[in-house]
Amino acid sequence: MLMPKTDLSSAFPSRLVGRYALVTGASQGIGRAVAVRLAQEGATVAVNYVDHPGKAEETLALARTGSSDRGHGKLDHVIVKADVSNEQEVAAMFETVLARWNRLDCLVNNAGFQQESPSEALDVDTYRRIIDVNLNGAVLCAQKALAHFVARGGAGCIINCSSVHQSIPKPGYLAYSISKGGMANLTRTLALEFAARGIRVNAVGPGAIDTPINAAWTGDTGKRDLVTSHIPLGRVGTPEEMAAVFAFLASDDASYITGQTIYACGGLTLFPEFRENWAS
Ligand code: NAD
Repeated sequence: MLMPKTDLSSAFPSRLVGRYALVTGASQGIGRAVAVRLAQEGATVAVNYVDHPGKAEETLALARTGSSDRGHGKLDHVIVKADVSNEQEVAAMFETVLARWNRLDCLVNNAGFQQESPSEALDVDTYRRIIDVNLNGAVLCAQKALAHFVARGGAGCIINCSSVHQSIPKPGYLAYSISKGGMANLTRTLALEFAARGIRVNAVGPGAIDTPINAAWTGDTGKRDLVTSHIPLGRVGTPEEMAAVFAFLASDDASYITGQTIYACGGLTLFPEFRENWAS
């Protein structure tokens, strides 16, 4: 029961044949797993990256293998460079993708990062950078995707990568907490504004997932055990488990779901400190 789920390939269908998806920050971690999973389910994917093009190429290769292995043939997967916080680069990224495909059905706003600092000493440039990438970047990309969805007469979906820290405060990570809190109302506001046009906007809220963002503790047995001890399901999550939730939300299986955040966190949002009753 406590084994991590990395190979889910035998269990999932091909729900995204004929769909086109752009995944931001897809050169590693959750973004990579999402791009690969969408490709495995039949979608054509654009792998956005900001640096380390070699890693984006690796994601691209995995997406190609994933779609061909599952019988979807050679899909027109592509890598596309852009800093999601840069308005011009985001515009150019969408121009490139739309010129190539002439359509987009799904945007995954995944790019993000965090940095620890006591809040009273948080450097203002760092603060602005985190909000710019994690929250404003998602807004810039959403605007471009929505403009396309509306221009073609509706339909399409946006899936934001939020966090358990959308609702659980994270002391020492003020900008990150604010950015993920903002994700909630970004998701809900856009969902309501565009629902009548058949455009769905949802979010995934990962818990503690085994990706490079957590390099400070994933490779250290003691720290990892400490993290795990707080997780009701008793283990860290995998990028593939997150990707499964994104794929569901991108698919017609989620056709009646909009404005929601699905927490994929092993129970972290269940107030684990209340496992034993101490309050009454
Ligand atoms: P990661 O560090 O492996 O991946 C983050 C990706 O975002 C990288 O590919 C990075 O290059 C990209 N990125 C950063 N700044 C960018 C920019 N300006 N433009 C474009 N891309 C940029 O970490 P991850 O865990 O895969 O994180 C992915 C998302 O999941 C983030 O939004 C993160 O906040 C969220 N998340 C992760 C966890 C976790 O435990 N791993 C938990 C909750 C939420």
